[in-house]
Amino acid sequence: MRGVTFPGNRQAEIREFPDPHAGPGEAVLKVRASGLCGTDLHRYRGPDPTDMITGHEPCGVIEELGPGAPPGIKLGDRVICHHYAGCGVCENCAMGYEQLCPQGRITFGGGTGHGANADYILVPSRSLVLLDDELSFEEGAAISCGTGTAWNGLKKMDVSGRDIVAVFGQGPVGASGTLSAKAMGAQVIAVDIVPERLALAKELGADHVINSLEVDPVEAIRELTGGLGVTVSQETSGNPTARQQVLECLRPFGRCCYVGIGGPAEIDFNRDVIFKVATIFGSWTFSKSELIEIERFFVDTKAPLNKLITHRYSLDQAVEAFKEFDGAKTGKCVFVME
Ligand SMILES: [Zn+2]
Ligand SMILES: [Zn+2]
Repeated sequence: MRGVTFPGNRQAEIREFPDPHAGPGEAVLKVRASGLCGTDLHRYRGPDPTDMITGHEPCGVIEELGPGAPPGIKLGDRVICHHYAGCGVCENCAMGYEQLCPQGRITFGGGTGHGANADYILVPSRSLVLLDDELSFEEGAAISCGTGTAWNGLKKMDVSGRDIVAVFGQGPVGASGTLSAKAMGAQVIAVDIVPERLALAKELGADHVINSLEVDPVEAIRELTGGLGVTVSQETSGNPTARQQVLECLRPFGRCCYVGIGGPAEIDFNRDVIFKVATIFGSWTFSKSELIEIERFFVDTKAPLNKLITHRYSLDQAVEAFKEFDGAKTGKCVFVME
């Protein structure tokens, strides 16, 4: 089968791998969609080669099931994979947070296990979640990391129609934050430096967009909120300045959630946390049960998840796909397999 690896320094390569087969407790998925996610770019840009197949947003159909599979799944089922494997029995694993297993974890498509930018992927059968009939494979792929991550951060902050939410960064995760916060009923202010991404944010329902290269986003947010600032903010870019601004733009009692990966930032804890009585959350993807909750949210609200996906590629277009995604002008990019 084909699989995409990163030889290092902004290269992608399609290589041949043996077809996987399911042993006890394992499943082979025929991959139908595999999303490109921001964390892929860190490894794509880096100098070190990855021998493992990339792609940590797997969505497909069960092709093979080894003995010991949960009785709720069968061959041919449409599924999303919660793309981690921990020990499977500790407290965090039992909660469905296998990524937080103290004994370590495999991340499928994240460097420690083969991922979904391939014809097939081998995963633990317990990692699978049924894909709702109303969601497409590509929507399932988006939910399985980037979109779900944004959604779950907003859930932690209990976002509702009483909130004004500022989302910093409008890449695929931030754009998902904009879409999700709107669907939760909030007003949304989207912040980015790329006009194409701000245009997409508008399309996804942002009430206001701010180009932080052109204006100070904190001042602009205060102007839009009667001088008060927002009630909720979410940081998806990982940029050190944005990591400061996302707290500065909060009004008293505001809530802020960090999901974007990046370098250290200087925070004025007196001004922006203590005297503001702010609440700060960190969020890293979601549990397996939250993955089901996120799916149900998009089915129930009919929030236009498909609008988020701006670029679709065949696996043979992997080189072009990563080059375009690295250009940071796209919305969600997804490999779609026949
Ligand atoms: Zn991801
Ligand atoms: Zn564990």
